[in-house]
Amino acid sequence: MSDADQCQRFLFDQLAIRGELTGLQKSYRDVLSQHPYPVPVARLLGEFMAAVSLLSDTLKFRGLLSLQARGNGQIRTLMAECEHHERLRAIARYNDDYIDGGPQLGEGQLAITIEPDQGKRYQGIVSLDDHSLAAALEDYFRQSEQIRTRIWLAADGERAAGMLIQAMPESAHESSLIHDSDAWDRVIALADTLTDEELLTLPNERLLTRLFHEETVRTWPPQRRYFECTCSHERSARALQSIGYSEARQLAVEQGSIQVDCQFCRASYHYTVEDVEALFAGDDNTSLN
Ligand SMILES: [Zn+2]
Repeated sequence: MSDADQCQRFLFDQLAIRGELTGLQKSYRDVLSQHPYPVPVARLLGEFMAAVSLLSDTLKFRGLLSLQARGNGQIRTLMAECEHHERLRAIARYNDDYIDGGPQLGEGQLAITIEPDQGKRYQGIVSLDDHSLAAALEDYFRQSEQIRTRIWLAADGERAAGMLIQAMPESAHESSLIHDSDAWDRVIALADTLTDEELLTLPNERLLTRLFHEETVRTWPPQRRYFECTCSHERSARALQSIGYSEARQLAVEQGSIQVDCQFCRASYHYTVEDVEALFAGDDNTSLN
């Protein structure tokens, strides 16, 4: 697979329709190597990673895009993030008595959160209701952004991949581009012939030729994707702040230091009594104990 760990934009020349293709291999395996996941969980995790890889490319600014699902199925939570259009991380939590078969996420909610480096945090929520992730995301674009969007996702535990096709907003395209339903229906009918196997294995150029050989498709250079955790000593300290000064200080005294483990990458951060005091310095509560 020559297009591993990338996301590539494409545009149908003369049609107000754009698209993206993403393929993940090493980044996906790096995430799976952090935890031993059951195969169906690993597959869904791959779909989530492919989805954040695609969605982050629809952002016109630097920031963090995350998907978080909570359901009543075997998987309790599933979360994937893409930061600055390149750094990926993901994690799933599932029932202790997990068994193959039955609903994975079941009925629940999917939160799409966008945190620009500069500007306001935005969150949209759509119902999962046992839909596929792709269908839930299409609902999101229909409800929140009112942009016609179709998404295809696949993952097999080794590779994850996705394709997004989207009508361009009226204001964003040149007058030479045509907005017509026939073109949209034609492109989507062709895209719907794509199999999971093709999505996972075909290099981008061959995939686009296979689907749209009668259309003129322009591509941009692919952007890379890789696994890297966004955790840090500073960010993990927020977990300590949430338990409060008295309790955090007492824990540090009792244990010598407090260890906070990152769930995404298994990094450990240690906080001494002095660290805890520095962390809460300037906080009024420090005088209480
Ligand atoms: Zn981490």
